[in-house]
Amino acid sequence: MNLDEFFLIEKYFKPLATNKAAQNLSDDAAKISLKVDEELVVSKDMTVEDVHFLKSDGGYNIAAKLLRTNLSDLAASGAVPLHYMLGFSKTIAMDEKFVKEFAQGLKDTQNEFALNLIGGDTVKAHDKLFFSLTIFGKIKKKQILSRKNAKNGDLIFVSGNIGDAYLARVLGNKKFLSRHLLPTPRIKLGQTLAKNKLSQCAIDVSDGLLADLQHICDESNLSADIFSDKIPVSDKSVPILDLISAGDDYELIFSAKKQHLKKILSLSKTLDVKISCIGYFKKDQKNSINLFDSKNNKINFSQYGYRH
Ligand code: ADP
Ligand code: MG
Repeated sequence: MNLDEFFLIEKYFKPLATNKAAQNLSDDAAKISLKVDEELVVSKDMTVEDVHFLKSDGGYNIAAKLLRTNLSDLAASGAVPLHYMLGFSKTIAMDEKFVKEFAQGLKDTQNEFALNLIGGDTVKAHDKLFFSLTIFGKIKKKQILSRKNAKNGDLIFVSGNIGDAYLARVLGNKKFLSRHLLPTPRIKLGQTLAKNKLSQCAIDVSDGLLADLQHICDESNLSADIFSDKIPVSDKSVPILDLISAGDDYELIFSAKKQHLKKILSLSKTLDVKISCIGYFKKDQKNSINLFDSKNNKINFSQYGYRH
């Protein structure tokens, strides 16, 4: 079946364009208003059939994960989600049921995180499906979190448990399937850290704890000492290096001054998210990560294809 582009927009995407910024998808461009002391935070993610998803995952999960992973980028900046734009491909083989479920996945996620669709583009594709989503958020200029902003002596925190997506995706543990298919972007946590000036530095874990922590080290010019028995995991029988190299966690790593330790740990209750302190940043010439076991012996992880 060859679905008509205007029919799809009218029936499935217009109902998601609930804000006046979208101008009911009837103008050439959307308009986003900001106050003078606010910054627009923008991020884009693309997802491609057979690389990032299987068609058998279903339209609902494909759309929801795409929006949730994009929201995770906003979470890492501390921004409040506002809007998103959608790049949508349709193949000859795509049926209306798929589009309907895709739109439902977007709808439930945009309701959960209070944002809305403001436009996009629709193209014909040959065999593989692909989707692209650009997300917009706002934040007060002075509050934005960045991977550049860690300071010598700051404590290192992570949200949630690390490696759950790996337990589902690679080890086939069904208990963690929803953590893999529908990750939880830590929007409230990012916002709370930023608003209360508890942190200036965060990153979301998409490539793995080690890889993403290394990004902070590189950009902030610091090394990190972290302790394996402090890293929160769901299954202690799985090698820790597998769990912290795997990625797709969409948890936050963030840094904070020691004096904020208590306040940060107490956010765990108010925001209903696990928060763990896993180590600290220090200044040396290496800008690298040192991982220690429970006996304070250094664990070598160079064989993990991990870049120093
Ligand atoms: P243009 O010719 O400028 O590309 P289109 O005819 O493609 O415009 O789109 C018409 C309107 O529908 C625009 O407001 C556009 O943002 C919106 N639109 C098109 N595709 C999508 C989509 N996949 N999701 C959301 N909005 C869309
Ligand atoms: Mg177009």
